[in-house]
Amino acid sequence: MILIKGGTVVGPTGPYPADVLVVGEQVAAIFAPDQGPQEGDFETIDATGKYVIPGGVDAHTHMELPFGGTFASDTFDTGTRAAAWGGTTTIIDFAVQRTGEVVQDGLAAWHGKADGNCHVDYAFHMILGGVDDESLKAMDTLVTDEGITSFKLFMAYPGVFYSDDGQILRAMQKARDNGAMIMMHAENGPAIDVLVKQALERGETDPIHHGLTRPEALEAEATSRAIWLAGVAADCPLYIVHLSASKALEQVAAARDLGRNVFAETCPQYLYLTLEDQLGAPGFEGAKWVCSTPLRSKHETHRADLWKGLRSNDLSVVSTDHCPFCFKDQKELGIGDFSKIPNGIGSVEHRVDLLYQGVVDGKLSLGRWVETIATTPARMFGLYPKKGIIAPGSDADIVLYDPAARTRIGVETHHMNMDHSAWEGYEIAGKVDTVISRGRILVKDGAYHGAKGHGQFVRRGLSDYLI
Ligand SMILES: [Zn+2]
Ligand SMILES: [Zn+2]
Repeated sequence: MILIKGGTVVGPTGPYPADVLVVGEQVAAIFAPDQGPQEGDFETIDATGKYVIPGGVDAHTHMELPFGGTFASDTFDTGTRAAAWGGTTTIIDFAVQRTGEVVQDGLAAWHGKADGNCHVDYAFHMILGGVDDESLKAMDTLVTDEGITSFKLFMAYPGVFYSDDGQILRAMQKARDNGAMIMMHAENGPAIDVLVKQALERGETDPIHHGLTRPEALEAEATSRAIWLAGVAADCPLYIVHLSASKALEQVAAARDLGRNVFAETCPQYLYLTLEDQLGAPGFEGAKWVCSTPLRSKHETHRADLWKGLRSNDLSVVSTDHCPFCFKDQKELGIGDFSKIPNGIGSVEHRVDLLYQGVVDGKLSLGRWVETIATTPARMFGLYPKKGIIAPGSDADIVLYDPAARTRIGVETHHMNMDHSAWEGYEIAGKVDTVISRGRILVKDGAYHGAKGHGQFVRRGLSDYLI
């Protein structure tokens, strides 16, 4: 048993002083201050001056993802350990059905990578690399038998993960029937491929051209098309992943104003980093920030609009899209050709901190911070109330967060398997102090007490947000 005493519990509705009793793997009770058990066989953790928040739920990670001839550099072991250090106690990773592969085989391969290797609990979405009769049937099986209730499709990456509009519509109709969520990578891939080819022909090979050949219009257009297609599929639940651009956000907001089952996430990189300052760094340096959708221009309103979208709930979730690649030998594959740079940024360790900075900066309330990093992703993807909340009966996934401490991010201190950090030198307010996963202390007093194999696969139900 653990008694977390003297802290300020923060839930989605805001902060209140309370003591939290953990028995076994679950939260047993929440007490008014000092009203809990006074003595007994339990460990007391002093949370004075700290926020006591539900462990983070990162609904978008890619451990060991094969991409562009290489693999994302974090394994489930290193990636979930880094997540734990950063206060994230559940990840939802993307299992992959490669084109031509049987869906269940792709899923089995992902279970094989993760099983016994995770430090925190994990669940899977399924990427459908090919929509056909067989994979449509598999969608039903995954929802009913495997606890996988969300499917990612790509309007980008022709020849790799791309689905055409007809395939997308069929998958959406299936999701409408079985209650699953369609997650969409909304960028117009065929049009982007034309711009990439033209840029390379002009000799424009530096990393910044990755961003310049993926203009906002092609994210907004694809977002709009996905929303219209979901409408044709009788308002199939649709979740736009890694939304980065103002005009894409406008499409989501308009659909939500109509009461549609349309949701979206953004990622920390789009809230803070820019096309000019990072992707446009001199020489090949910008490769560190090649991700899709790309970082947007600081001369436009994207970042301010995304923060506003988080407040207004047009953006419901902040995930990382954690897809780390080392600079050496991985990002370097694209020297002389930006289109060969593996796409991805590693942030699984930093999401809780980076969003707390939004609280310090007056952009989010404390309750909204917890909601966007933990409660809403849990509810969105059928993990609630097991995850995403501190409540009696919920898993004891708890983070003590110290608002008086500071975090300095960099390759010297992070735990991700990366030889650089997209956030090098960022010094921000607040610090993850203690991390508990299903009643087990993983991080305390700057030391790590977790182990691989502690993390368990979690079967998910349907989204809480659908009627
Ligand atoms: Zn994507
Ligand atoms: Zn992704």
